[in-house]
Amino acid sequence: MDCIFCKIAHKEIPSHLIYEDVSAVGILDIHPRTPGHVLVLPKAHVVSIKEVPSESVGDIFLAVKNITTLLEEKLKPDGFTIGINHGEIAGQEVPHLHVHIMPRWRDDGGGCIQSIVQYQKESVEEIKKKILS
Ligand code: 5GP
Ligand code: ZN
Repeated sequence: MDCIFCKIAHKEIPSHLIYEDVSAVGILDIHPRTPGHVLVLPKAHVVSIKEVPSESVGDIFLAVKNITTLLEEKLKPDGFTIGINHGEIAGQEVPHLHVHIMPRWRDDGGGCIQSIVQYQKESVEEIKKKILS
């Protein structure tokens, strides 16, 4: 399979690796949005979180936690934005699951995750009905 993140996760092509455990790696993004912008890549190829076996979901989150702790200790940011672009419409460019960890600083000029979109067409009650029906 010709997947760039599989190749990075298995060290077939170089990256700025800053973390590794049995199931995931953490690499510096080549186009960082903040100092220490990391991508967490599961070693097993999946496009999205939906394909991750339930018993392995925790492994990815553990890597996210460990890397966040490492960055906090070494870079001393004021906070973090942590998230996944799921699907092309949401901005996913690489079809191999990756979690962005972006250290944040008070003066970095960025916003919160929910500020990236404003598209509320139905009431909260209507949406709840749809989800629970
Ligand atoms: P997405 O938009 O898919 O959530 O994010 C893809 C991210 O991967 C982008 O931030 C982009 O800079 C990063 N990226 C793409 N190709 C490479 C690569 O070959 N190496 C590294 N380290 N990052 C990459
Ligand atoms: Zn892959």
